[in-house]
Formats: sequence, structure tokens, C-alpha cells
Amino acid sequence: MASNQNPPTPIPQEEQDLPNSKTALLSFNTDPPSTHKPTFKTNKTIFFSLLFTTFTAVIAAISFAVLFFSSTVKPGHEPIIRTTARTLTKLPHPIVLLISSDGFRFGYQFKAPTPNIHRLINNGTEAELGLISVFPTLTFPNHYSIATGLYPPYHGIINNRFVDPITGDKFTMSSHEPKWWLGEPLWETVTKHGKKAATYFWPGSEVKRKFWDCPVDYCMLYNGSVPFEDRVNTVLNYFDLPSDEIPVFMTLYFEDPDHQGHQVGPDDPEITKAVVRIDEMIGKLIKGLEERGVFEDVNIIMVGDHGMVGTCDKKLIYLDDLAPWVEIPSDWVQNYTPLLAIRPPPEISAADIVAKMNEGLQSGKVENGNNLKMYLKEDLPSRLHYVDSYRIPPIIGLLEESFKVEQKKSNKMECGGAHGYDNAFFSMRTIFIGHGPQFAEGRKVPSFENVQIYNLITSILNIEGAPNNGTDSFSNSVLLPDA
Ligand SMILES: [Zn+2]
Repeated sequence: MASNQNPPTPIPQEEQDLPNSKTALLSFNTDPPSTHKPTFKTNKTIFFSLLFTTFTAVIAAISFAVLFFSSTVKPGHEPIIRTTARTLTKLPHPIVLLISSDGFRFGYQFKAPTPNIHRLINNGTEAELGLISVFPTLTFPNHYSIATGLYPPYHGIINNRFVDPITGDKFTMSSHEPKWWLGEPLWETVTKHGKKAATYFWPGSEVKRKFWDCPVDYCMLYNGSVPFEDRVNTVLNYFDLPSDEIPVFMTLYFEDPDHQGHQVGPDDPEITKAVVRIDEMIGKLIKGLEERGVFEDVNIIMVGDHGMVGTCDKKLIYLDDLAPWVEIPSDWVQNYTPLLAIRPPPEISAADIVAKMNEGLQSGKVENGNNLKMYLKEDLPSRLHYVDSYRIPPIIGLLEESFKVEQKKSNKMECGGAHGYDNAFFSMRTIFIGHGPQFAEGRKVPSFENVQIYNLITSILNIEGAPNNGTDSFSNSVLLPDA
């Protein structure tokens, strides 16, 4: 049995309602249909433009083929296409190393030379257009969704900071009391099955549970000043243990490039530097595993928790500007941005507040008002899975990407980066790379939500997972079957 304090039962197996990866951008576009008149071209123009298009397409196809084969086929190395999982050569049982690089927006891997990350990509399986974060696209809700396979309302961590409306207790990112953390995280699932787990930082990993007491030496207490190198070394040292004592599941967490992304936005050279440094850590890890002869035996899963988008002072919405329609006192507001969450006193109608706020926002008289839309939480799009928890405040505002909400105008002028927006925005996507015996080489899979990762890992480890929001059959679409 799981040791949930408040088991979120029953867990609804809602239909996935995933945005199509090719059309995932949520449209807030309210532009009128184009009024451009169609232009007529002569037959000759059409002929030449077709000829040109065909020529360009052929050149592009040839260039792509050359690029593709030159990057995947090394001289003297015929690619071996595996159709079943590779047999382990050194380790006696499967091991999963789950790595998170915080705020690694999908696409950062193309910003800078990242030979080590690309080694994992080229010889492993990648979500071709990135991993879809859960909503809200914030660090704690997402890391804990990865660890439990649950959407935030079911694992309880509905935001990085929130207030329990019944007790008035405040959750912060350093709250380790078990009452907040629902569901069953992977480290507990693993130990429940009599196997060993090790966590080098992961939101929720320090929380004591029925089958997880955060063991000394295998459960690191969060300290952001520990150099990344030390973290990698500690993980590598686990592989020096007698083989039956090596943890079968390990986490490894890096705060970057999220840290730089907030300060300077996703397009700054600082980000490039941070991405290169993460790549160096992956290189150090690979080298250490190779020296121990286990690199090809370990299943490495590298993910991020969310993406990042640039924000700037011109894209602000002030709640005080809504005063002619409705006053929103700051003590009703639990979170401002990018997820606006409001809990008015019980005697005030939330529906009334939503209607008045939307009236003001759509009036054309509130600066940037059209970029914020208010909802009763039960009216949010069902694909966001953000309703079934008493912890979620009744009023939620969805922002257009890169906009921010503040209470009132100030002299604070800043440009930086943010995340937390609708997970349909492409900028909120992160990476998924799987490398190891159970992952095909050079394989691309369509984007998927991170709640699927829990089942993926229990499947590799061949243990039964706790009920969750992932789909049972998902692993079959990403993992190679056993030989
Ligand atoms: Zn994060």
C-alpha cells in the first residue's frame, strides 16, 4: 500500500487531451481574418516558382541526407539497428539515472556546442519536439509530476508556493512535511520493492514516507551551493559499490540553466554558457561511467522541468487598473505571475469577480488587458488538469506568454525570463533524452507529457508502480522490448 497521507482516490484516468505536437501553440489570436485580396499570377510565373520550389526542395533533401548520414554513420561503423533491449554486460540488473537540468528549454541544445548531450541524443531516444511540462509550468509541480506520474492536483504540489485554505498553513519550496506531498514518488516505489534508491536533490526527495526515510548518504539534503562536479562524483561513486548494492534508481539535479534564464531571458549569451556547463557535467558523467565499464548498461534519462520565455516591462498588466470594474485587494492574491491565483473571501462570489475582471480586461481600456483571461478553476480547459484540488484557489488567470501581472505600477523596470505559463506554449517545453539498454539509437518519438515518465521508469526497473495519470501502454512506444 502507498503511504499517502491523503490518497487522491480515485485517480481519474482522464482522456489525454494532448495538444497535437505540431499545433501545440494555444491561440489567443483575435485578429480579424485577412482582408488581403488574392493576387493573380500568370502561368509563366507559376511555372518558374514551381520549378524554383522543386529545385530548392531537392537541394534541401540532399543536404539533409548528407548531414543525417554523416552524423549517424561513422566510417567503419555500420549502424546497428536494435529491435530489442541490449543485454547487460556488467551490471546484474537494470539501473535508471534520472537527470534534471532545471529550465532547459527545448531548443537550448541547438544554441551551443553540446557534444555530450548530442552523444546521448544520437545514440538514444529523444522526444523530437520536446517534453511537455504539466500546468503550471513551474519547478516544484513539474519535478513532482515526473517523480509520481500525477498531475499537480493529485500529487498536491499545485504551485511553488500556496496556502492551505483549511488550515491556513503555507507551503514553500522548503516545506518537507509529509502532509503536503501526496502520491508515491519513484524513490519510494523502488524501496517499497526492496530495492535501493538514491536522490541527489529532487523536490520532495527529502520528505519522509512509509517506505522512504531519506537515508544518510543516499538522500542529499538540498544545498544549492554544492558544486555540480561534486554531485556527479557522488553519483559515480555509487557505481564503485559491490554491484548488488548499487542503487537501481538515482536522481541528479542541476539548477541551471533556469537560474540564468530568469535573470537574462532565454536568448542571452549567459544561457549559452550555462548550457555548455551542463553539457560538461554530462560529459564528466559519461566519462566516469565509461571508466567503470557501465556506461552502456545504465539507462540515463535526461529531462528538464519546463522551458523559459523572455519577459519585459512593456508587457505588464496591473490589477489596480481594474478598479473601475472590480477591486482586487492584494491579500486575495495568492500568486501573481505567470499563474494568477486569487482566493476572495468566502462570502464574495468568485463567479462575479471573474465576470467583472474579464469585462475590464476586454474593455480596451486596461493596458495589455487582452493578454489575460480569468477563469473559475472548474472552467479552465480540461487539458490543463488543474481543478481537482481544494488547494487550488477558485479564480485562475491565464496569461499570454511573456506577459506578467503585478498589483500596481512601480518604477521597477526589468527584463528577464519566466515560466509557469500554459503548457501549450512551445516555449514552455523542455527536453527528454533516454540512453541505454532499453532505448533505441537515433530514435525520435513524438512529444509527450512528463506524467508518463513514472511508468517508463518502473517499466525499465521491472517493478509495479502506484496508480498514476500516465498510460500503461506508453512505455511500449518508447522502450525496446526485452530480447
Ligand atoms: Zn524549474
